[in-house]
Amino acid sequence: MSAPPAGAPRRLLRRLRDAMAGRGTPQAKLDRVVRLIAADMVAEVCSCYLMRAGEVLELFAAEGLRSASVHKTRLAVGEGLIGHIAARARPLRIADARAHPLFAHRPETGEDIYSSLMGAPLLREGRVTGVLAVQNRARRRYHDEELETLQIVATVVAELTANGAFVDPAELPAPEGAAGAGPVEGQPLSGGLAWGRVAIVRARPPIARLVADDAEAERKRLADAVAALRAGLDRLLARAPDGDAEPRDVLETFRMFAADSGWLRRIGEAIDSGLAAEAAVYRVREDTRLRLDQAATPYLRERLADIEEIGERLLDHLAGERPGPPDDEGTGDIVAVARNLGAAQLLEYDRARLRAVVLEEGSPTAHAAIVARALEIPMVGQVRGALGRFRDGEPVLVNGSDGRVTPQPEDADLAALREQAAERARRDALYRELRGKPARTRDGVDIRLDINIGLAVDAGHLDALGAEGIGLCRTEIPFMTARSFPGIDEQTALYAGILEAAGARRVVFRTLDIGGDKRLPYLPAAKEENPAMGWRAIRVGLDRPAMLRHQLRALLRASAGRELCVMFPMVATVAEFDSARALLCRERDRAAARGEPCAAGLSVGCMIEAPALMWQLRALLERIDFAALGTNDLMQFMFAADRANAATLRRYGVLSPPALALARQLARACAAARVPLSVCGEAAGGALEAMALVAAGVRVLSMPPSRVGPVKAMCRSLDTRPLRALLETLYDSPVADLRPRLRAFALDHGVAL
Ligand code: PEP
Ligand code: MG
Repeated sequence: MSAPPAGAPRRLLRRLRDAMAGRGTPQAKLDRVVRLIAADMVAEVCSCYLMRAGEVLELFAAEGLRSASVHKTRLAVGEGLIGHIAARARPLRIADARAHPLFAHRPETGEDIYSSLMGAPLLREGRVTGVLAVQNRARRRYHDEELETLQIVATVVAELTANGAFVDPAELPAPEGAAGAGPVEGQPLSGGLAWGRVAIVRARPPIARLVADDAEAERKRLADAVAALRAGLDRLLARAPDGDAEPRDVLETFRMFAADSGWLRRIGEAIDSGLAAEAAVYRVREDTRLRLDQAATPYLRERLADIEEIGERLLDHLAGERPGPPDDEGTGDIVAVARNLGAAQLLEYDRARLRAVVLEEGSPTAHAAIVARALEIPMVGQVRGALGRFRDGEPVLVNGSDGRVTPQPEDADLAALREQAAERARRDALYRELRGKPARTRDGVDIRLDINIGLAVDAGHLDALGAEGIGLCRTEIPFMTARSFPGIDEQTALYAGILEAAGARRVVFRTLDIGGDKRLPYLPAAKEENPAMGWRAIRVGLDRPAMLRHQLRALLRASAGRELCVMFPMVATVAEFDSARALLCRERDRAAARGEPCAAGLSVGCMIEAPALMWQLRALLERIDFAALGTNDLMQFMFAADRANAATLRRYGVLSPPALALARQLARACAAARVPLSVCGEAAGGALEAMALVAAGVRVLSMPPSRVGPVKAMCRSLDTRPLRALLETLYDSPVADLRPRLRAFALDHGVAL
């Protein structure tokens, strides 16, 4: 968000406030608002579309368009430029709108004479509630400042139109299924079974104060609220028991965000543009949401979601009080039902009473889900329409393991609850007991279990998890949350933080894997037909050597006094590996020549993700210190099946003859060349997949942290000999999916899955 010109939005905002405070019907006020915006922004048209029934944008007010089109012109989400803005939840500016392929001609509006268009979505609670647009006859290029002003004004209009006066809340799409109508299914986020009475977490009411005259006073209110926010987080931290590593880390991360000067500066700038402190927080939060939606990886989206939660808490403090969790005073077991819940919000509940959480949104990598798992609170996400489906006080049974939520459970359900709770408690106790034990199979094969991480905060759990080290540090993750390219010092601090958190454990840093589905907002790249196979990872690094060299320099510095383990992603040819390693050696020599801090030794590896490497193994293995098989990418290229496409995701995979044959061939070649091989794709964390990979000869598995316990239990219950014999008969099998065969083997041989 660039700084808006302080005067222009402030003046306009003040006028909008006065217009809304004046007399007249809500419609008359909205008419006045669009008139004011058009006049102030020197636009011939200003139109406001509001969302009806969750899918149709209706023209509610228009200055400069034919009045007969108001309440007549409707566009589906995705239809025309207005629908496109709503569908993407992003602003848009176009000098020649009529020439745009998405332009939808609506003759009744009389807009044919206007060329340029600039629109911004009306966003509220993460949803698009409408679109605000301006148009001009001339083919204008709207400036950044104008776009910024329109977005600020859109923040205000979104709040002004959120009070039900324009679109009747009853008209919103009906939740799927009525209250109490049978079980619903969502995504399992934290396992276990629990029973409790529904406590709905209601959405925040519209912000009452949007515009303020006295920026100084607003800045002071902001500072006070930030102080209260920090004090509140400190209180929560003091309450978190020492043993609870993950909740503590999450709170520490929040405290760090709350002190983030960039975030607070942006809120301050929004205040200077004329917004009240609440609206400024809201504006910056919505800006974050936009960036969040652009961030391709779920992991990153969740880290940004943390910043959102902080924004939400700050809004509560600005409202004067921090509301406690629902049903704060009552007694009895509760199941929180919310659109989404932040990790800190979750920690505020009385742990003796909160039995489960049901969310309309949520994802496995969200901090709230991580905390729920750490606290063993069942959680189900992606339950569509959950807020409309359940009633406060209604009894529900939540199965966090299979994602089912059953209202009004019957006796048989409750008996199953007791049985499953006992089973889960037994498993969890087992994983805890295994923490200090090796992942050694029954026939004495030692398997090394590592974890995959993206941020320093994830690196501190190795002991608690019983993992040996960090087998994959995806260094691009912090780059994706940054607003600009992190400099060498910043990167050095980042990597040093990870190394410090990992202590003496081995950490494998992977150089930037950007491009493909992981884009950096500040590194523009051409649109590609097939980004996963496009300009990404080491290709970017070799084409932009300064970028790669700076990262390597920072890694070498951060590793002063210890060995640096570094690997390169998406290498397709030995020559690429040689070039990348040459850059690394050059940086090492440069540091030595200058007497700068530098790693004491180098261990240089290569990701095996491009199938072409399988035919260059001899040359490659002569050069590398270790290899890491990235099953996520290798599978998609091996089977020509997009890893992000749900239609192909389940069709092909590691549990197939060709994939396991490849793993065996690679494991054999690596063993012969004495090059350690790990598998660090998601497959390493699946108990059945890990079992098959071990039998194929893999000895190092690196996985998401939550999978260490189950995979270790599998390893310790496995005798690899009969499985190896079975696999020998299957490598050439015409059966596409070996899952049933392997599952049967596990069952017959008592392998813990
Ligand atoms: C992989 O491709 O398996 C891998 C570990 O890399 P990423 O998932 O980050 O692409
Ligand atoms: Mg990959």
